[in-house]
Amino acid sequence: MTKPVVAIVGRPNVGKSTIFNRIVGERVAIVEDMPGVTRDRIYSKGEWLNREFNLIDTGGIELGDEPLLIQMRAQAELAIKEADVIIFIVNGREGITSADQEVAKILFRSDKPVVLGVNKIDNPEMQEQLYEFYSLGMDTPYPISGSHGLGLGDLLDEVIKHFPDLEEDPYDEDTIRISLIGRPNVGKSSLVNAMLGEDRVIVSNIPGTTRDAIDTPFSRDGQDYVLIDTAGMRKRGKVYEATEKYSVLRSLKAIERSNVVLVVINAEEGLIEQDKKIAGYAHEAGRAVVIVVNKWDAVEKDDKTMKNFETKLREELLFLTYAPILFVSAKTKQRLQHVLPMVKKVSENHHLRVQTNILNDMIMDAVAMNPTPTDKGKRLKINYVTQVAVEPPTFVFFVNEPELMHFSYERFLENRLRATFEFEGTPIKIFARKKN
Ligand code: GDP
Ligand code: GDP
Repeated sequence: MTKPVVAIVGRPNVGKSTIFNRIVGERVAIVEDMPGVTRDRIYSKGEWLNREFNLIDTGGIELGDEPLLIQMRAQAELAIKEADVIIFIVNGREGITSADQEVAKILFRSDKPVVLGVNKIDNPEMQEQLYEFYSLGMDTPYPISGSHGLGLGDLLDEVIKHFPDLEEDPYDEDTIRISLIGRPNVGKSSLVNAMLGEDRVIVSNIPGTTRDAIDTPFSRDGQDYVLIDTAGMRKRGKVYEATEKYSVLRSLKAIERSNVVLVVINAEEGLIEQDKKIAGYAHEAGRAVVIVVNKWDAVEKDDKTMKNFETKLREELLFLTYAPILFVSAKTKQRLQHVLPMVKKVSENHHLRVQTNILNDMIMDAVAMNPTPTDKGKRLKINYVTQVAVEPPTFVFFVNEPELMHFSYERFLENRLRATFEFEGTPIKIFARKKN
């Protein structure tokens, strides 16, 4: 289920990113080790009193050289659209500015709960400064100090009070949830239209679990599918929607809600850095992935073009070696008929459960073929393997010393698993746990 979204809004320099980092805490460091997008620090997971949420720093969505007022409006609109609760930060040392008033007006008109944080109140003597902020027309202003970590608990208590009740999952368990992600203009909407075509079996467009997301359910050959957040693909034009980070943000939410992610790449442009980030997030999230190279019609080709394109893609997306690649054209419909069967196949692989005895036989054969590593005279001994989860398939290896399970050997085991079972399109997770 998607977590509630909390957005931080406020003028530059009021302390948004300081507060963001405080709330996110050590989590950021963990997230930053991963190859995905989260290191941009505009979007991270937070937790307070056991309630998990996603936190957005709208100040991190850069809008080029737009004037302050336009930027502030865009931030506020983004927050209203994406967040369940908005934290509005002002600077207690500077008092109210016209930009604050502008933001307050926009937020006031929305029906979103807003919690007002008056920052840079670094000591109790400064609390006097608070009163002026009542005139912004919000509820109680909360005095906080981002840099000293004061007052954030009370503020977050108020924030989580406004979280919506947990939503029911609207889809059947067997329904395959697909998201198409990729930069603007790679052809996501065209692909959806071409795939569903005239004979589409759309029941209706129904609101998704995330407010404002429109999902498109349909069925093909007896299988139910739902395209996650097709509205998010169509919307554009607004200042913030044109920014790169915004489209990433939108993608992250769609990925969270799907089982199978179609990473769409524009064949005319090849892979660019942002494609990699988006693909990285799908991988980290443990979703099944199919790489769809669209606009293949527009590429000048000979008999080697596809192979070369694929080789290059594989080199750039080393973490996605398992993802099948389809070269298609939304325009000519070339190979589009392969997309849904492929989605179905990788979804099945994502769910695949291997019988324990077969799994253990296979691993023992693998160990006989390539003996386990040793370190300081000690050899890794694998006692037993079991699959503990699906979506994605997750294996726990019970071993004598987990530290002896080196990355390269883990990779070998993953390759053996992939060679033996049908795991195309799905990541696999492997853990080593101590048990003699
Ligand atoms: P943002 O532009 O809104 O993200 O603001 P930053 O988080 O980058 O903070 C702007 C400046 O204000 C930095 O120099 C911070 O160190 C400082 N700052 C942030 N929070 C506080 C606070 O609670 N008290 C004081 N005195 N300074 C703060
Ligand atoms: P989105 O922003 O990813 O949803 O992209 P759109 O579906 O709006 O497509 C962006 C542009 O690329 C439009 O002008 C489409 O007509 C064009 N386009 C989409 N798919 C193809 C394709 O397969 N071949 C060619 N040549 N153009 C395409």
